[in-house]
Amino acid sequence: MENTPLIPSRLPESIRTLIDYSLAKPTRIHPLPSKPKSGIWIKREDELSSGISGSKLRKYASLLPYLKKQEVEVVAMIGGPNSNNLVGLAQLLKENAIKPIAYIRQAGDSRKQGNALLLDMLLKEDETRFVAREDWSEVEAIANRELQNGDFRTSKSHLLLEGCFGTEGIPGAMTLAEDILRNESEEKTHFERIYIDCGTGLTAMGLILGLELLEDPKQQREIAVTLIAEEENMFLSKLSEIRKKLDIPFPEGRENRNSIRFLKPTLSPKFGSISASLFKCCRDIAKTEGIIMDPTYSVKHYATMQEDLRTSPLEKPCLFINNGSPLGTMGFQGKLQLI
Ligand SMILES: *Cc1c(COP(=O)(O)O)cnc(C)c1O
Repeated sequence: MENTPLIPSRLPESIRTLIDYSLAKPTRIHPLPSKPKSGIWIKREDELSSGISGSKLRKYASLLPYLKKQEVEVVAMIGGPNSNNLVGLAQLLKENAIKPIAYIRQAGDSRKQGNALLLDMLLKEDETRFVAREDWSEVEAIANRELQNGDFRTSKSHLLLEGCFGTEGIPGAMTLAEDILRNESEEKTHFERIYIDCGTGLTAMGLILGLELLEDPKQQREIAVTLIAEEENMFLSKLSEIRKKLDIPFPEGRENRNSIRFLKPTLSPKFGSISASLFKCCRDIAKTEGIIMDPTYSVKHYATMQEDLRTSPLEKPCLFINNGSPLGTMGFQGKLQLI
């Protein structure tokens, strides 16, 4: 008799129907170019889109169907002037004829470069609101007030939290787990450790929860989360909050069965901070790996993995998730030249 696997390799149908799989496409993995025999593999989430940072597209793959089902006409979105999320959403909302209104934190530097330039290109004047730094803690209330009382009060509107954090993006984020299992089965390998970066943490949480649903319970692995813009305690409390809010029957006894280990970035650890060594690392990665990584997330994530592999070596294969987009280097062209 054929061996029928007990664990489905695909997400349950009830979740799959929430996802637009034309956005959450399969991505390839390949060995780390500089050390092809080391057992370190890279997942090319950067190839999901030419203009949207990789992990974002997976979240949007369930967020967009949700907004469309609710017949939302106007979306308020919140972020800093260099937000990958705002740039990504602006593109996808326009594609879907949903009007974006971006609440952007006033920049210290008024020059339009990098994502600030892309946002300036993507958004019309009436789609942009600059919020002073001293008012930033009130930004959600400011956006809500405008949606309810402003020009769009008669339109169906939706407010997205900074970084799109919320349950609507989780089904899409879970496709990362599904696609890693496909990669493993095609390459006939198993990753003992998966390195993933974390901003709001939604992408990493989607991975963790997706693996819980999909994985053979006999197999264990470690999820190493590089805390680019979040703290360990917050991550864990947000994870348990999301788990409760989701209407998904998680298999019993598998909660956090894969161990989660948190890593602090080793290069310019403060979120958004930069340094000459960060840019040198960005150039080194391009030369050694042939991959143009964004300095804000992926370069820090990569440097952190390299350091972690020195202090916690592995015998078995591991996987580095490259969520970044080469567009993330745009704002740093001057800095990248000076090294
Ligand atoms: C936005 C972003 C992240 C963070 O994703 P979260 O789901 O908010 O944790 C990580 N890496 C890159 C390159 C990003 O653009």
